[in-house]
Amino acid sequence: MFDNLTNKLEAIFSNLKKAPSLNKEQVESGLKEIRLALLEADVALPVVKQFLENIKPKAIGQEIIRSTSPGQMIVKIVNDELINILGVKNQELNLNAVPPVSFLLVGLQGSGKTTTAAKVAKLLKDKHKKKVMLVSLDVYRPAAQEQLKVLAEKNKIENLPIIENQLPIDITKRAMSVGNLNGSDVIIFDTAGRTQIDLKMMMEIKQIKKLTNPAETILVADSLTGQIAVNVAKEFDSTINLSSIILTRVDGDGRGGAALSMKHVTGKPIKYIGVGEKIEDLEMFYPERIANRILGMGDIVSLVEKAAQDLDEDKIKRAEEELKEGIFTMDSYLSQLRQMKKMGGMEGVMSMMPGVNKMKEKMKNASIDENMLNSNEAIILSMTKKERENPKIISGSRRKRIAEGSGVDVSKINKLLKQFKMMSDMMKKMSKGKKIPSGVLPDEILNQLK
Ligand code: GDP
Ligand code: MG
Repeated sequence: MFDNLTNKLEAIFSNLKKAPSLNKEQVESGLKEIRLALLEADVALPVVKQFLENIKPKAIGQEIIRSTSPGQMIVKIVNDELINILGVKNQELNLNAVPPVSFLLVGLQGSGKTTTAAKVAKLLKDKHKKKVMLVSLDVYRPAAQEQLKVLAEKNKIENLPIIENQLPIDITKRAMSVGNLNGSDVIIFDTAGRTQIDLKMMMEIKQIKKLTNPAETILVADSLTGQIAVNVAKEFDSTINLSSIILTRVDGDGRGGAALSMKHVTGKPIKYIGVGEKIEDLEMFYPERIANRILGMGDIVSLVEKAAQDLDEDKIKRAEEELKEGIFTMDSYLSQLRQMKKMGGMEGVMSMMPGVNKMKEKMKNASIDENMLNSNEAIILSMTKKERENPKIISGSRRKRIAEGSGVDVSKINKLLKQFKMMSDMMKKMSKGKKIPSGVLPDEILNQLK
């Protein structure tokens, strides 16, 4: 699916990677080529724009890490942004509701709904050990109900018995009561598609959605149709509010645009992909793996990651030295926050300080909000070098600028500066060998961090 894009990116990077150093013009022309490659892969224009906007400052202002080259750094930057645009994390289908849990599959005719309904049923049955019932609401296309029934029987999945001439709304009601009676965990509704979106179909789906109150409203979209699939998703989402997307025919030779645009344009995650006609040809959608498949440069990505980690360790050592002398800057605070993130708690933060062993246990057990760590990191990254070295100069207008730059409220900046001040005071005291009244300060700081 991504072959063409992969080849294009490979060619672009083979030039960039060779250069021992890159000037602004070289980087910019590389970015231009990346932009073209994405457009040729049928990625939606707003997505391409956002993509470039996000990588440009990083690529141009990049901090080259020892033992990597600028080209390698750009590979890593592009890789990270691909993951970002694809949706960052893989997400499982939501089964979190009172059983029977309903899933509603919607989409255009031929997009793969019926096949996907059976695939999902089989997955839930085999992997999640759920009792699943399939229900076809497609009374319009001849033999559509039969198609699902055959798939169900072949794979030993329950299928709501077909009653000739019953209408979708009545079938839905019957399915809900049968599902309740026979103790189904999940009921999967395969709806009727049309060749294009029409009002009548939408109204019917809306009604069915009301009746079934689904935990998942899944759009099944054909990746081979590229931007059309993305537009269809947008329309479905605005009328019936989708919860997720399953992209089919990812085994085909589409250009990849649908996969790359879907999340950004609709805001809804791709949870699974169809990769063949057989019932087991359904894969979870892993942004990281897809990015790796597109770029095909996993080795470089891990090399840069490793180098970045070494650099972090260098920085931590330096911060440690500085702390001993009572120097505490935003940069040292940033490196502590990153440590915290890595260690998943407060443990790392002050473990570098002399004489804080007693506090350590306490720190370890304190639960710190991951979002706070991320937003504090973003805030510090939005500060200038001068501001980081000397936070005292951060005035009202600077606070506003930093808030905008990091996408948070000014109140968050105030809070962070307060935390910083407290920590810095404590560090100073400690470096002078003064004793901290035991148990007082950590609580104060912990509360600040929550
Ligand atoms: P519906 O009209 O939306 O219910 O679509 P169907 O489920 O009937 O599928 C239409 C055709 O697409 C069938 O021939 C399926 O075998 C095929 N199909 C569905 N998903 C995939 C997929 O992920 N890969 C491939 N290669 N074919 C698929
Ligand atoms: Mg069908």
